[in-house]
Amino acid sequence: MDTTLFDDARLRRARDEDADPRTREIAAGLLAVRERIAAAAAACGRIDLPALIVVTKTFPAEDVVRLHDLGVREVGENKHQEAAAKAAAVEQELARRAGRDPQEAAADGSSMRWHFVGQLQSNKARSAAGYAAAVHSFDRGSLLTALARAAGDRREPLDCLVQVDLRREIPADSRGGAAPEAVAGLADRLAASEGLRLGGLMAVAPLDEEPAEAFARLAEISRRLREDHPEARMVSAGMSTDLEAAVAAGATHLRVGRDVLGKRGTGR
Ligand SMILES: *Cc1c(COP(=O)(O)O)cnc(C)c1O
Repeated sequence: MDTTLFDDARLRRARDEDADPRTREIAAGLLAVRERIAAAAAACGRIDLPALIVVTKTFPAEDVVRLHDLGVREVGENKHQEAAAKAAAVEQELARRAGRDPQEAAADGSSMRWHFVGQLQSNKARSAAGYAAAVHSFDRGSLLTALARAAGDRREPLDCLVQVDLRREIPADSRGGAAPEAVAGLADRLAASEGLRLGGLMAVAPLDEEPAEAFARLAEISRRLREDHPEARMVSAGMSTDLEAAVAAGATHLRVGRDVLGKRGTGR
């Protein structure tokens, strides 16, 4: 599952010896987060490690290139405009350094896999399908037409995760996840859509509850989903503050920003 190309020895070298101070900082963050993931897995007797998606929102393309140099291949963004521009800038820079065109670099897997984790809007679906390998925030049926149409231009199906709202009381105007009861229906419709692939589930822990309890409910929803859709194995959960609880609850993908890259300026 872990598609990163780094190892700890390489990260330690970068942390201690790289000429660029920002690269040293990011290497230190990556090492610390990897240690936390390994410790959390050991604590619950888990052998397979989840993949680490580094959430790069608000950080510049240069930091994504640094992550690439450190072996990271999965990054996440939550705003379309920022993501599309950054993905293009990163691909260009990687291609320029390798002396080839961006299409080739993308095709041989040497470039980044972009995960869109922000709120999804129909009118931005085309943009997301242009740069993203996966969209984590599918939460209503009205997005299907736009996503399927946008995915029609792609070589690979677009992985879509159903975002689940784990709050115990979901406000009527909720944007940011489907109610648990709605997941099965949305998943069936996704799985039946050409060009889209049902990847699994995504959630953010509610603020007013222990993450472990919320993630336990997510694990149960995932178990039920896989009875009907065994291929929908992704469970995207866990951020800087609650990654340990997510590891213990069986998350396959963690989305970590702050604790790898540092504080964001804008409070997002
Ligand atoms: C920003 C963000 C993250 C990462 O959060 P950190 O606290 O920076 O680790 C994860 N998931 C989503 C949906 C986000 O918007």
